[in-house]
Amino acid sequence: MVIFNLQEVLPLQKIIVLNQELKIQFPNAIAVTIKREDLIHPVVSGNKFRKLKYNLLQAKAENKKTLLTFGGAFSNHIAAVSYAAQNQGFRSIGVIRGDELREKIESNPTLQFAQECGMQLEFVSREDYRLKQEPSFVDKLQQQFGDFYLVPEGGTNELAIKGCQEILTQEDSVFNYICCAVGTGGTISGIINSALPHQKVLGFPALKGDFLQDEIRIFVQNENWEVINDYHFGGYGKVNEVLIDFINQFYADTKIPLDPVYTGKMVFGVIDLIQKNYFPAHSNILLIHTGGLQGIYGMNVKLKNKQLPIITIDV
Ligand SMILES: *Cc1c(COP(=O)(O)O)cnc(C)c1O
Repeated sequence: MVIFNLQEVLPLQKIIVLNQELKIQFPNAIAVTIKREDLIHPVVSGNKFRKLKYNLLQAKAENKKTLLTFGGAFSNHIAAVSYAAQNQGFRSIGVIRGDELREKIESNPTLQFAQECGMQLEFVSREDYRLKQEPSFVDKLQQQFGDFYLVPEGGTNELAIKGCQEILTQEDSVFNYICCAVGTGGTISGIINSALPHQKVLGFPALKGDFLQDEIRIFVQNENWEVINDYHFGGYGKVNEVLIDFINQFYADTKIPLDPVYTGKMVFGVIDLIQKNYFPAHSNILLIHTGGLQGIYGMNVKLKNKQLPIITIDV
């Protein structure tokens, strides 16, 4: 499924991403198109490529040899950084939340992949992980690992948002709604900054809590956006059979794979809102496929352990 070679796309200012209109009959003459950012790369996919691009260039400009970042057990960000670092000639260190995971690398496809990409995994307790922004914690890491370029958790910083401002292009001006999954809020912030005044940006958080509005407000000036908190399915990484069925059915209908942590919940939410007449007639909706498909493997391990139906997508 590799469409772009990272080596080639990284220095480019623009890459062209497929916009695919869904051939599904929606009520009220509503049209839905999905921007296939997942096709940028199988691992450094979607928004993770966008968020890393200028950070990798900056790390090179600063002559850094090592990238250090943070993430949870099934983090798309950890997978993306490990691969991008190896591909771009950096050493990489992943500070992983949960010291019990040290013994479970073999049963965790994400951590296994990161390790195979040469990422050095440093497991810390959940309590220590909470301190990761503190200067004293970063100092300690510097003593331990030497000099590094720090990529924040989820990759969100000013340079990441600059990269996400390149997701929307001129041809997307025909859409009046733009919908995207939200984790830390970096991706949607870039989208909001580059959205046009006649467009409304809707964010679908993959986690519980009302704090994301305030996070996003730090990075954006425009007011034409809204966060919809009704489709987190119980919280970050939580799924149920309704969501898994939806992802499998959507794939059967469209051949478009969705991930269970982010894009599955967002697309479920948009289709549910269409059915509830949230959108005016003739709305032209653009969904941003932010990638994250590597998360399917880890989710299926968890689902199998609980003897629940799995995601039957071959990515
Ligand atoms: C990380 C991720 C997000 C969340 O992006 P933020 O910038 O943290 O809001 C959304 N979708 C996918 C597939 C992701 O991997």
